[in-house]
Amino acid sequence: MVSRVIPVDNFDLVIFGGTGDLARRKILPGLFRRFISGQMPEEARIIGAARSDMSVDDYRVMIRDAVHEFDPASAKHKDCLERFLGQLGYVAVDAMGEGGWKELHAEMRENTVRAFYFSVAPSLFGAIAERLKSFGLADDQSRIVVEKPFGKDLETAKKLNRSLSEHFDESQIYRIDHYLGKETVQNLMAVRFGNMLFEPLWNSQYVDHIQITVAETVGVGGRGSYYDTSGAMRDMVQNHLMQLLCLIAMEPPAKFDPDAVRDEKLKVIRALDPVEPHHIVRGQYAASEKTPSYRADVENARSFTESFIAMRCQISNWRWAGTPFYLRTGKRMKARTSEIAVVFKDAPHSIFGPEAGYHRNVLSIRLQPNEGMTLGVTIKEPGPGGMRLVDVPLDMTFAEALGPDAEEVPDAYERLIMDVIRGNQTLFMRGDEVEAAWRWTDPIIEGWQRRNDVPKEYDTGSTGPDDALMLMHRDGRRWREIKE
Ligand code: NAD
Repeated sequence: MVSRVIPVDNFDLVIFGGTGDLARRKILPGLFRRFISGQMPEEARIIGAARSDMSVDDYRVMIRDAVHEFDPASAKHKDCLERFLGQLGYVAVDAMGEGGWKELHAEMRENTVRAFYFSVAPSLFGAIAERLKSFGLADDQSRIVVEKPFGKDLETAKKLNRSLSEHFDESQIYRIDHYLGKETVQNLMAVRFGNMLFEPLWNSQYVDHIQITVAETVGVGGRGSYYDTSGAMRDMVQNHLMQLLCLIAMEPPAKFDPDAVRDEKLKVIRALDPVEPHHIVRGQYAASEKTPSYRADVENARSFTESFIAMRCQISNWRWAGTPFYLRTGKRMKARTSEIAVVFKDAPHSIFGPEAGYHRNVLSIRLQPNEGMTLGVTIKEPGPGGMRLVDVPLDMTFAEALGPDAEEVPDAYERLIMDVIRGNQTLFMRGDEVEAAWRWTDPIIEGWQRRNDVPKEYDTGSTGPDDALMLMHRDGRRWREIKE
C-alpha cells in the first residue's frame, strides 16, 4: 500500500509558548515529522514566541535538542533537521504587555495562511487574542489554536469563549483535544459510517453496554499543583472521555463536515442524564514501595482531589435508552492503555447448550498502545470433542494491516496542526460543545464539594478502588482487563 501525503499550503505558524514543555515535547517534534514526510512546504515558517529573550540561533539549538530528546528516531534525519531548523524564527513577546509585537508583525508574510498556537496558560488567551488584532497580526483568515484546559467550570469556559470571540469568529478558533487526532478515533467514524456491518447493530437493541477506559501508570509528576485543583474529572473526563463518548454515541452526520459532526456530538452531550452519586467512584492512589502517594505527590496532606474516577452514564435518547456507558480513568494504574469496548448482547438463544460455552462479541477500539481494533468473534474450538466455542479476535491492528506504512501514521498533534493549516475544524471542539460538557460536569463536582466527598484510596498498580468493581458487579457486568 502506498501512503499518500498531501502537502498543505504555505503557512506562517506562530507558537506562543514556543519555549515551553508542550512546544518542545510535542508540537515542534511533530512538525518536524511532517516536514520529513514531505507534507510541510519548504517555505513554511514556524516562529517561536515566548517570554525569554534569546536569539534565533539559540532557539534553533533549543529545538534541535528537543527533537533529539523527544523523538530520537526522527532526529537521525540530520540534513532534514538542519533544513527544518532553518525555517524557524523566534521573537521575544510579552503576552500581557506591548513588547515584541511589532517585531513579530515584521516577521509575518502577506498572502500566507497565518496560524497562532496558544501553547500558554489559559489566563493569557484573552490578552494574546486582543493583541493579535490590535497589532494587526491577524485578519479574518487567520486561525488560533488553544490548548486545554478550556476552563475549570462552565463560568470560566464561557468567559474564555467570550474573550476569544471578541476578536475571532468561531470558524477561526481551534480548541485542541489531542484524543481526537488519534488515528483510531477517526477510524471509529470510518468503521461506523463506512461499513454496512456495524451501524444497524449500533443501538440499545444489540449493544449491552460500552466501556471507555483511559488508564495511565504515571502519577501526577511535576504537574501536582495544577492537577490538585483539577482532578481526573476536569483533566480527563470533561474533555477526552466525553469526546470519545460522543463519537461512539452520535447519530450519523449527514456529511463528514465540521459542523455536521459537531452538531451530532453536541446532541449527545445534551442527552446525557445527570449522574447519580452512587454511580460514581472516586479514588486517590496510595504510596507503594517505590512511589509516593497522591497526597505526597501534590504536597497536600488533606487533598480530596481524585486521581481516579469510574462512572456509569446514561444517554437519554431513542438509540441508547437502556444501554449504560461506563467511563473509567486513573493514574498509577496497572497498565497504560486507552480502550473503547462495545460489548454486544448475548445471542437470543444458544443452540449449543451451556457446556459449549458462550462469548459475547466485543468490538475493542484501542487508542494506545498499538492503535487498532479487534472484533471478538465466536467460533468452534478446533479438534475433536464436540462443539466447544472459543472467542477469537478479528484483528485490525494498523501496524500489521498496513505494513511499513503504518509507521507513517502521524501522531495526534501532527495531524491536528496540519488540519489547522488546511482549515478543517472537524476534529476540534466547538465553543458550545465545551460549554455543554461543563454544564453536565459542574453539578457532579459541586455535589462532591457539598457532601465533602472523600476519594477511596487504591493501590498503585491496581485497577482502582474495589468500589469501581462493585459499580459493574451490581449491574451484573465486569470491567475489561487493563493490559498493554
Ligand atoms: P510551560 O510552563 O512549559 O511553558 C509556558 C510558555 O509560555 C513558555 O514558553 C513561556 O515563555 C510562555 N509564557 C509565559 N508567560 C508569558 C508571557 N507573559 N508572555 C509570553 N510568553 C509567556 O507550559 P506548557 O507545559 O508548555 O503548557 C502550555 C499550555 O499547554 C498550558 O495551557 C497547558 O495547560 C497546556 N498543555 C500542556 C501539556 C503538556 O504536556 N505540557 C499538555 C496539554 C496541555
